[in-house]
Amino acid sequence: MGLWQQVADGVTGVVKGHLVTFRNLFRRPVTYRYPEVRPNLPVGTRGMPVLLSDDEGNLLCTACEVCARECPVQVIHITAHRDENKKKVLDEFDIDMSRCMFCGICAEVCAFGAIAMSDIYELADFEQENLIYNKERLAELGRRRKGPIINYGIKTEGNPYQSPAEEAEGSAGTADKPAQSAPATPTAGGTSR
Ligand code: SF4
Ligand code: SF4
Repeated sequence: MGLWQQVADGVTGVVKGHLVTFRNLFRRPVTYRYPEVRPNLPVGTRGMPVLLSDDEGNLLCTACEVCARECPVQVIHITAHRDENKKKVLDEFDIDMSRCMFCGICAEVCAFGAIAMSDIYELADFEQENLIYNKERLAELGRRRKGPIINYGIKTEGNPYQSPAEEAEGSAGTADKPAQSAPATPTAGGTSR
């Protein structure tokens, strides 16, 4: 191959490469400027499982323990006692989120619609013990449900990392967790495909 042929090939390659770049400048981005912008996840997304309550705020869980038995990785821990009418009363309901694989089986096997998969997925924490979600935390997150249960999943509203009281005060809540932003579309700052 002669010298001029090599130069021509080189120039052609550079021009082609710039054309690809130029074309992508005008394409709609498909990625998000995370964590400032978060995707609007559909109902049925498998984030962390949460406990659901009735309209009065009482947990729907009957402590039947089916979910704990069916959980493939055995991360649900339930304790209960029987009241004077021999009815089971839930004492503890813990899920170790560090080992939960978001499979959704617990929500699927619950006959009482008491547990559902949420759209909450940002669980990183500096302390491992914070990943053990107890009954109160799971219930609080479940009370953020909005809309119906679809495919064993719910959508939540508000910032899951702030308690409702903190939200009302407008405080920062858990300092090392960013605020959940409103559903958004991809930004122009995203990478194009
Ligand atoms: S969440 Fe459902 S399956 Fe699990 S113990 Fe409660 S009622 Fe039973
Ligand atoms: S989502 Fe799966 S792994 Fe996680 S608690 Fe439920 S059954 Fe267990």
